[in-house]
Amino acid sequence: MAFETAFSMDTSSIKYGPGITREVGWDMEEQGARRVMVVTDQNMTASDPVSVALESLRKHNIDAVLFDQASVEPTDISFKEAIKFAADGNFDGFVAVGGGSSMDTAKAANLYSTYPADLMTYVNPPIGKGTPIPGPLKPLVAVPTTAGTGSETTGVAIFDYLEMNAKTGIAHRALRPVKGLIDPNNTRSLPKMVAACTGLDQLTHALEAMTALPYNQRPAPEHPKMRPAYQGANPISDIWASRAIEMIAKSLVRVIEDPSNDAARGEILLAATYAGIGFGNGGVHLAHGMSYPVSGTVREYVPEGYPPGHPIVPHGMAVVLHAPAVFRFTASANPELHLHAARLMGTDISGAHPEEAGEVLSKAVVDLMRKVGMPNGLKAVGFGPEDVDKLVEGTLPQHRVTKLSPRPASAEDLEQLFLDSMTLW
Ligand SMILES: [Zn+2]
Repeated sequence: MAFETAFSMDTSSIKYGPGITREVGWDMEEQGARRVMVVTDQNMTASDPVSVALESLRKHNIDAVLFDQASVEPTDISFKEAIKFAADGNFDGFVAVGGGSSMDTAKAANLYSTYPADLMTYVNPPIGKGTPIPGPLKPLVAVPTTAGTGSETTGVAIFDYLEMNAKTGIAHRALRPVKGLIDPNNTRSLPKMVAACTGLDQLTHALEAMTALPYNQRPAPEHPKMRPAYQGANPISDIWASRAIEMIAKSLVRVIEDPSNDAARGEILLAATYAGIGFGNGGVHLAHGMSYPVSGTVREYVPEGYPPGHPIVPHGMAVVLHAPAVFRFTASANPELHLHAARLMGTDISGAHPEEAGEVLSKAVVDLMRKVGMPNGLKAVGFGPEDVDKLVEGTLPQHRVTKLSPRPASAEDLEQLFLDSMTLW
C-alpha cells in the first residue's frame, strides 16, 4: 500500500469584526446572488443577528426569504424539510445565521437543491453511499452565533439519522461556505452552559486535529478527488490547532464568568474558527466518534439553561466527556505531542515523563471541564456500564473519524474507553 504524500489547506474566506454581520448583503451581492434563503432556527427568528442580516440583504436589493425551521439537533427529517424549501424556492444563494445546526442545514439545502438525489447518496459510508458531490454549489455565507462548531470553515454537515439512532454526516469540500462572517456581537447573549459546551467542542477539535493520525500514514487516494477533507494531522492544520488550544485555555473561563468581556469573547469566537480550520483539514478522531451514539441515545438528561422537556447531551459536552479517556489511550502513539498539547493548555510539563503524557493532558482537560461546570462523566448524564455495548455498536460505523485515531481502537478498546468515561474525577 502506498502512503499519502500530499496535504492541502482548504478553508472559507473569513471576515472578522464587531458588527460585520451588516455586510452580508454586500457579500452576497458580490457572489451574484439575487434570491437568497436565510437559514436559522426558531430560537433565533427574532434575534438581532437575523434581523441585521435580513436588513442588510434587502438593502442590497436581494430577495431574502427566511427559513427558521432548522432543527437545533438536525435529523434526516429536518434536513429534508429544508431541502424541500430550497428546491421549491429557486434560490441562487444561501445565508446561514446561527449555530452549527443552522449552518449544516444550509449546506444540505444547498447541496440537494443543486444536485437532487436521495438523502443517503452523499452521506458518509458505510451509513450512506458516499458519492462525491458532482460540482460546485451555490454560494453560502455563514454567520455563526455560537462559538464552537467551526462549521463556517468546513465542508461537513452533521445530522441524526433517526432510524439508526446515530449521528452521521456529509463531508466534501464543495459544501464549504464561500465566506464566514465572524462577528463577536453575535455571541453576547449566549447562555453560560451553551458557551461552555461549544468552547469545549472547539478545544476537542483542536486537540484531536493535532493528535490525529498523521496524513502521511494514511493510504494514498486512488485519485485526487478521493482525498478526504479530514486528511490527518499535517503541518498546516497543526498551526491552527495549536493556536486555538492556547486561546481557548486562556479565555474560556473568562467568557463563562463574564460574558460582557468583549475581548475574551472575541478571542473565543476567533479560536473556534482557528480550530475549525485545524480539524476541517486535519480531522477529529475517537472523542468525536464516541460522542455520536451518546447524543443519539440520551434519555432524560437536560443541562442547566437548556429548554425543559427536551433531553439532550449537547454535542460539545458529548465530545469532551470522552476526551480524558481518549487522550490517555492515544498518548502512547506520540507522547511528546500529547505533552506539547498540555503545555499549550498552560500545564508546566518540565518534570513530566513521556509515560505520563496521557495523564498530564487528560488532567489539563478535566481541570478546564470542572472550571466551566461540565458534568462528571457519562454517569452524570444518565448512562451506565449496561449501555456500553450499544454505545460501542453506535461508534463502530463512525469510520470517517475513528480511523484517524493515532492508535487503532478495537471494539474492546472502545468498550474500555466508554467505561473509563463513566466518572472523570
Ligand atoms: Zn465537534
